Amino acid sequence: MPNTNRRRTKIIATLGPATESEEMLVKLITAGVDIVRLNMAHAKHDWTRMIIRRIRAASKVAGREVAIMMDIKGPEIRTGDLEIPIELKAGEIFDFTVKPGAERDHAEEVRSVDVNYRDLVNDIKVGDTVLVDSGLIRLEVLSKDQAHIRCRVLTPGSLTSRRHINLPGVHVNLPSFTQKDKGDTLVGIEEGIDFVALSFVREASDIEMLRYFLKENGSRARIVAKIEDQSAIDNLDDIIRATDALMVARGDLGIEVPLQELPVIQRRAVRTCLAIGRPVIIATHMLESMIGQPMPTRAEITDVANAVYEQADCVMLSGETTVGKYPLECVHVLDTIARRIEQEQAGDIPEPAVFTNERMKVFRSAVVLANQLPRCLILVFTRHGTNAAGIAAHRPPVAPILAVTDSLETMRHLRMVRSVEPFLLTPFGDPEATIVRATTSLLKLGRIQPGDKLIIVSDVQAHERRIDSIQLRNVEEPTA
Ligand code: PGA
Ligand code: MN
Repeated sequence: MPNTNRRRTKIIATLGPATESEEMLVKLITAGVDIVRLNMAHAKHDWTRMIIRRIRAASKVAGREVAIMMDIKGPEIRTGDLEIPIELKAGEIFDFTVKPGAERDHAEEVRSVDVNYRDLVNDIKVGDTVLVDSGLIRLEVLSKDQAHIRCRVLTPGSLTSRRHINLPGVHVNLPSFTQKDKGDTLVGIEEGIDFVALSFVREASDIEMLRYFLKENGSRARIVAKIEDQSAIDNLDDIIRATDALMVARGDLGIEVPLQELPVIQRRAVRTCLAIGRPVIIATHMLESMIGQPMPTRAEITDVANAVYEQADCVMLSGETTVGKYPLECVHVLDTIARRIEQEQAGDIPEPAVFTNERMKVFRSAVVLANQLPRCLILVFTRHGTNAAGIAAHRPPVAPILAVTDSLETMRHLRMVRSVEPFLLTPFGDPEATIVRATTSLLKLGRIQPGDKLIIVSDVQAHERRIDSIQLRNVEEPTA
C-alpha cells in the first residue's frame, strides 16, 4: 500500500552549534526535517548569511528542498554578558542595571547584571516579579532608581550570559518590531528566507507592521506570529486572522500565564487556526530531556502525540537540536510518534470546518470524495500555495495532498502545511499537458502507482476561460 506511511505532521528544527555543520544538515534533512529555524537572539549576521547558503547547499545534496524560518526576537529583554556565572542565593539582594556604568549611590557591595532595555525602570513596579532564564530564577522588585532595579532573590540559581527575562503581567513598552529585528530581517530578505517568525506578538497591528516592511523590501516571506504572553492571548482571534501562520511558543507562554492555562490555550489556538485554515506550530520543550539523553520521557511522548492528535501542522525542536547531544535521534522520535498517531487518526473523518467561501466548499468536496475511495491521493496544482493549503485546511484523514507548483518559493512555503507534499514542476503550461507531465514524473518518483486513484484539483481550459475543477482519474501503466 503506497499511501500509508508518509508523515503528515511537519518537523521544524532550530540550528545551533550541535547542528550547523553541512554534514549534520544533510543528515537532518534526510531524516525528515521540513523547516530549519534560525534563532536571531544568538545569531550574528555573518553567521546568518553563511548558514542560509549552507542550508540551501545541504538541501541540494540531500535532494530535498527545506524551508528556512528566521526567528526575530521582537520586544525581548535579556541580561548582559557575564564572564563567569553568578550563583544567586535565596534572599540575596541583587541589581539589574539598565544604564551600564552608572554611578551607584549606595556604598554596600551588591552584585548586578546589565539589562538591554533602559526603560524597564519605567515599566516595572515595586513588588513585581522578575523571572530569569525560563523562570528558573525568581526575584521580587524592592526598589528602583533611574539606573538600577533592586531585587531580592526568591528562587536561587546560576545566572549565565544573555538570559531571557520574563515579567508576567507587566506591559513592556518596547516596540514590537525593533531596530535589531529590522536589521536581521533585511539580511534574511537578501538571503531569501521563506518565513519570518515574530516573537512576542501582542496585537494584530504588530503583524501588519512586519508585513508592510516585507512588502516594502520586496520579500514574499510568510509571517509566523509567536504567541508568548497574556496580551497575545487577549487578542488571539485577531492575531490568527492577521498572520500567515501561528506558533504556540510554550517556552515563554508557560512562564507568562498561569501554568494550568497552557494546555487550554494550546487547544484553543490550534482549533482557531484549523477553523480558518492557518498553519499552526507547537513549539518548545517537546523533547527537552533529549538534550542530554537519547530517550524521551513518557510525558514527552504523550505531549508530542497530543499535538498530532490536535492536528497541528508542525512540531518544533529548539534546544534539542541547537545544543543537544542527540539532534538526529530527536527528529527520529518526532517522526516515529507522528506516523503512529496519524495512522490512528486515519479512521476519523473530521467534522467539516465552517468555511463560507465557495472555493473552500469545492475543496471540501474533493476531500469528501477522497475519503470514500481506497488508494486515493489528492493532486493539486497550485501557484501560490493557496489551493494546496485550502485543501489541507480540511484535514483529509487518509489521502495525502501532492501539491505541484511552478514556484520554488511556494514549494518551500508548503513545507509548513500538514499533509502537503510539495513538488516543483516548471513551467506550467496548458492544464492537460501539465497534468500529464506531473503524473508521469510522480510515477517515475514512485510516489504514485498504477491502480491508484487521483483526485485532481486544477484549472481546466474552457474556450477562453479557466474553471476550477475536480476530476477523478485512474493512474495507468506508463506508456513509454
Ligand atoms: P524562543 O521562542 O525559543 O525564541 O524563546 C519559543 C518559545 O518561547 O517557546
Ligand atoms: Mn520565546
